[in-house]
Amino acid sequence: MLSPPGAGKGTHSRWLTEQTGAAHISSGDLLRAEIERGSDLGKQVGAYIARGDLVPDELILDILMSAVIVAVRDTGGYVLDGFPRTMAQALRAAELAAELSLTSNAVIYLTAPEEELVSRLLDRAQREGRVDDTLGVIRHRLAVFAKETAPLIDYYRGRGILLELSTDRPEADVHADLRDWLNARGLLPPEPAPLGIPPRAGSDEPISASRNEARWRSHSC
Ligand code: AMP
Repeated sequence: MLSPPGAGKGTHSRWLTEQTGAAHISSGDLLRAEIERGSDLGKQVGAYIARGDLVPDELILDILMSAVIVAVRDTGGYVLDGFPRTMAQALRAAELAAELSLTSNAVIYLTAPEEELVSRLLDRAQREGRVDDTLGVIRHRLAVFAKETAPLIDYYRGRGILLELSTDRPEADVHADLRDWLNARGLLPPEPAPLGIPPRAGSDEPISASRNEARWRSHSC
């Protein structure tokens, strides 16, 4: 999930994990949990986050790869929310994925007008009080996105796995487009068969959702 702050990557990542059963891995949540725990890593990253700067690549890669390995073991797939955020991270992630025989199937690029992003983040500040949701830091995070992360859009578009989606409209419309696009690529599990559906002709075996699910579970987003 690739998006500027405020475009809805947390919300839509969670929806996607509900639809697929894949694990949700948010790099920001992982880092905030380290700060909360007062770990060494938390102490190293706290100031970067408060300023709205990206934390150094080597600090994020370790924590993220551990989460990916657990997700693959437990659910067979994952939605990465907030990673990669630099070209160096994307290239390193591609190398590590190749070593682990993992495939990136989809990169969802969420967009909304800048003033809408700012307004959503200021609203979130009222509800959650995040240290980096102040006007000055929000503007800085948007500038960091434009400089460090936006180049990934063309990189993934060139790999043919990018979907660009405006979130400046009702959530149901965003989800409908996302569902259609993922379905067309076989990235969503089949809808569960209604109860009472008869077995296929010539087979004693009832239709099995779990067998169909095995196919998409080898994918990750
Ligand atoms: P988020 O929760 O995705 O908005 O991320 C909050 C903050 O965590 C960012 O502003 C960065 O300081 C840090 N962060 C999250 N993901 C990354 C990443 N992939 N690379 C570097 N810093 C990150």
